[in-house]
Amino acid sequence: MEKTPAFGMTLDDWIEWMNERGQPKFRAKQIVEWLFSKRVTSFDEMTNLSRDLRNQLESDFVIGLLPSVRLTGSKDTTRKFLFRLHDGRLIETVKIPANANFDGERSGRLTLCVSSQVGCAYDCKFCASGLAGFTRNLSAGEIVGQVMSAEHETGETIRNIVFMGMGEPLANLTNLTKALTILNADWGMNLGARHMTVSTSGLAPQVEKLAKLPMQIRLAISLHGATDEVRDQIMPVNKKYNINRLFDSLQVWQRHKKQMITFEYILIEGVNDGLDQAAILAKRAKSLHAKVNLIPYNTVEGLPWKRPDIPAQDAFMNVLTKANISATIRREKGHDIDAACGQLRLQEETAEGIS
Ligand code: SF4
Repeated sequence: MEKTPAFGMTLDDWIEWMNERGQPKFRAKQIVEWLFSKRVTSFDEMTNLSRDLRNQLESDFVIGLLPSVRLTGSKDTTRKFLFRLHDGRLIETVKIPANANFDGERSGRLTLCVSSQVGCAYDCKFCASGLAGFTRNLSAGEIVGQVMSAEHETGETIRNIVFMGMGEPLANLTNLTKALTILNADWGMNLGARHMTVSTSGLAPQVEKLAKLPMQIRLAISLHGATDEVRDQIMPVNKKYNINRLFDSLQVWQRHKKQMITFEYILIEGVNDGLDQAAILAKRAKSLHAKVNLIPYNTVEGLPWKRPDIPAQDAFMNVLTKANISATIRREKGHDIDAACGQLRLQEETAEGIS
């Protein structure tokens, strides 16, 4: 039987597990302390639990630390981990340095970009993760495991998390919600909800569901086009939930969360970098009081898209700033290591013959 990662268990799950074995409730608290505060790497080290209980834990669970197959790093200290899962599949997790967080602001906090699925079914035309299709959802334990493993490997504390790695997080809503609970809980990783950002390509009904989660997490929308015409070309999800439907769901989000939404916008030459798109984007951002992160495209092997030159990037940006939109250009760090998310995994899986 496949063992469950202990990192994916909530305090309530542990209480239930203890209950079923006739154990007192406080044992559950002891386990999460060993896992998240004392950071043990084996059940054997949980010395205030009986030998018998430790054996039972050993037979039902693994701790959930993920072995790192490759660790690439660039001169500016962005680090890309390639973690191996229990079934041999690979996922990418990226550590972004404290002075260059995901939206280009100086935050003084280390950010980790985590994956939510192996592969992705959404087939955005510019994305390496979508190239090999969808394999499976990550469990809550595998999501939390990326954060614990990155801290374990680097000895550094992660204080910001963005769900912008491989996969569409809102297509894995149940496991995502559970992972957010564990990451946020004071008995868990104790990460502030405002320091966790979930990014979606536009799954409107799931945005509305997530809006009801009583946690002040942040939302980023991978917009990449200001009109249906452009989004339809590069993001098939738009055919299911068009821009108007998406923006209706963002209104719901804002009613519940009363916080700023971020639009991520990858600038692709000749596709979405026209100044007409910039003007419509400015209007859309203003309507929601959203901020915009522009990300010049990074070439992906096997895909035809190119990044616009710097004057074209600046011209696009100028339209936004003139309209008083809070906007940044993320001339991204770390993209000298392996360009866009998903590429490292594709290379390794190809080399290992995993299909
Ligand atoms: S951009 Fe995101 S949603 Fe689109 S294919 Fe890539 S991983 Fe999936």
